[in-house]
Amino acid sequence: MHQDDCVFCKIVKGELPCARVFETDDVLAFLDIAPVAPGHVLVIPKAHHRNLFDLPEAVGGRLFAALSPVGAAVMAATGAAGLNVQINNNAAAGQVVFHAHAHLIPRHEGDGLRLWSGRPYADAAAAQAMAEAVRAAVARGR
Ligand SMILES: [Zn+2]
Repeated sequence: MHQDDCVFCKIVKGELPCARVFETDDVLAFLDIAPVAPGHVLVIPKAHHRNLFDLPEAVGGRLFAALSPVGAAVMAATGAAGLNVQINNNAAAGQVVFHAHAHLIPRHEGDGLRLWSGRPYADAAAAQAMAEAVRAAVARGR
């Protein structure tokens, strides 16, 4: 259930401190120690799972069930006008701690945080080919 070398497992076990904001039997939410914005919260399953792809459906369901009430509370406490929910999966996507977690990042108009800009597909055939590749992977189960 826990991994000895995992910083989030140590937080769950009480071996490392955290600024806890929400807790159930299965889920823990606490302040990110290096927040993108004040009020930036991490929501984690208490059981160790590497990332989104390793979450059993029931565990993922309980994690996601916490995002709305905790996210709304973060917005209320910070006076934020918006909120980003971000889950980084694998190092290439910016995952640093390899215990699944969702970032709740309160947003304010003009706060300077930017999402990357979108770029359209070259043409409709390129978009269709990509959709077909994803559909085929879904059908294979990966
Ligand atoms: Zn862990």
